[in-house]
Amino acid sequence: MAVAIVGAGFSGAVVARELAEAGVNVEVFETRDHIGGNCFTERHECGTIVHVYGPHIFHTADQRVFDYISQFGEFVPFEHRVHATAGGRVYSLPINLLTVNQVFGTTFTPSEAEAFLASQSVPKGERTDLEAHGRSMLGDVLYELFFDGYTTKQWGSAPSELPASVLQRLPVRFNYDSSYFSHPIQAMPRLGYTPIFEQLLDHPRIDLHLNTAIDAAGLAGFDHAFWSGPVDAYFGYSLGRLRYRTLDFEEEVHDGDYQGCSVMNQTDLDVPFTRVTEFNYFTPWEHHDRTVIYREFSRDCGENDIPYYPLRLNEDGELLGRYLEAADQEPGVTFLGRLGTYRYLDMDVCIGEALDVAAEFLKKV
Ligand code: UDP
Repeated sequence: MAVAIVGAGFSGAVVARELAEAGVNVEVFETRDHIGGNCFTERHECGTIVHVYGPHIFHTADQRVFDYISQFGEFVPFEHRVHATAGGRVYSLPINLLTVNQVFGTTFTPSEAEAFLASQSVPKGERTDLEAHGRSMLGDVLYELFFDGYTTKQWGSAPSELPASVLQRLPVRFNYDSSYFSHPIQAMPRLGYTPIFEQLLDHPRIDLHLNTAIDAAGLAGFDHAFWSGPVDAYFGYSLGRLRYRTLDFEEEVHDGDYQGCSVMNQTDLDVPFTRVTEFNYFTPWEHHDRTVIYREFSRDCGENDIPYYPLRLNEDGELLGRYLEAADQEPGVTFLGRLGTYRYLDMDVCIGEALDVAAEFLKKV
């Protein structure tokens, strides 16, 4: 049996490994010159492990996923903390009791802060968009300070056009816990993500082709294909293009410590970038004399850009529906991952779904 896997990010690499372990020969096709997709990391000449496509912090509530991925490299517990510069001041994010007390100059207790935010809430009525959700959950002051400008920059759309689910990724806490994520498992790979992918794909039954684009016609000779590239690309964009946001990074190298934390968000609309990542803070167990920072700019994804974030506005949803119908007519192809299913998925979800998809497939062969 001949199986093709398109894409060597987490979705493709995990399926490849699972099939190979079960005795199936697989060929992995990757258009880029490296494995790992947007999780790719590499050591900068000054020693720092750089997340080349922006910050990726592993977090999950799924012990099965963590146990699985930990077989391919060591993960070190890592609690991600983010700060935000807004209106000329620095605050703690996600919104927690310190943020509320900083913004309003108060000394609220948890219950006082909760009651205060409830008093600030702007009723959202029937609205289900991000802006209405944000103003209802946080009131105008916090919403405008932290979310309105950042979201507009990040998505290139008015927050009133975006789904509330984007904001629901972030917790709001009425205590001083400033951990960015609420998942019980949070960790960083000790040597970066790339060695994890090297281990995943290091199997005699896996044949890896880098720098190799393959299309639907090229997959015709295989018994089955797993497609983790953009779903619309599989169909040659015949129904139109699904929209994405892409990112540009401005790299700088400095001596010592640049900003004192791993990620500093810039939430004001008039600052053109969304955040600055300082990678040394992702490996506190290493020491480097110099420090690498990425300033992150978001924009619409053009035809030759790397897609990062599926936009998923109403019109994209309609087009996606039509592509999903077309995908249903392709029993020999399984679509998976952030691009293959056009969903805003985190790494742990991609790994978990890839394990499920591989298990389903293996049941049938
Ligand atoms: N967000 C925001 N201000 C912030 C951080 C996040 O408005 O300071 C909103 C924004 O719309 C963003 C979403 O929350 O796209 C999710 O943020 P997250 O940090 O999870 O984004 P990612 O790391 O996936 O880019």
